[in-house]
Amino acid sequence: MKINNIEHIGIAVKNLTETIKFYEDVFGLKCYAVEEVQDQKVRTAFFMVGQTKVELLESTEPYGPISKFIDKRGEGIHHIAYAVEDLKSTLDELVKKGVQLIDKAPRKGAEEMSIAFLHPKSTNGVLTELCEQNKKKI
Ligand code: ZN
Repeated sequence: MKINNIEHIGIAVKNLTETIKFYEDVFGLKCYAVEEVQDQKVRTAFFMVGQTKVELLESTEPYGPISKFIDKRGEGIHHIAYAVEDLKSTLDELVKKGVQLIDKAPRKGAEEMSIAFLHPKSTNGVLTELCEQNKKKI
């Protein structure tokens, strides 16, 4: 597999609006997108930090994955996302290497990306997301 860069770091938060305000007022970063990803039951907010993004995640449902995460562990770093070139073949390669996947096939994430999560059991406890930027339509 080929990882190009850290695409983003996902942070689970209880209140997206308040946290955006904190990141803007205190950290001086600019939120450039807020997007709901229904598939994952989250509302996300993105900040560009150099070539890496910070993704804030707020649950849209009381029993969504982010709610469950916060109930168990509190707010905090939820996942790390790496940009890869060919997500489908990367997943096939990881399966062959015995890595446990949460998503066996790419699915739609925020920002028009194809994404897949690897199981933290296989990645030293770090929930790992792989992202492939879909070619922009010009
Ligand atoms: Zn993510």
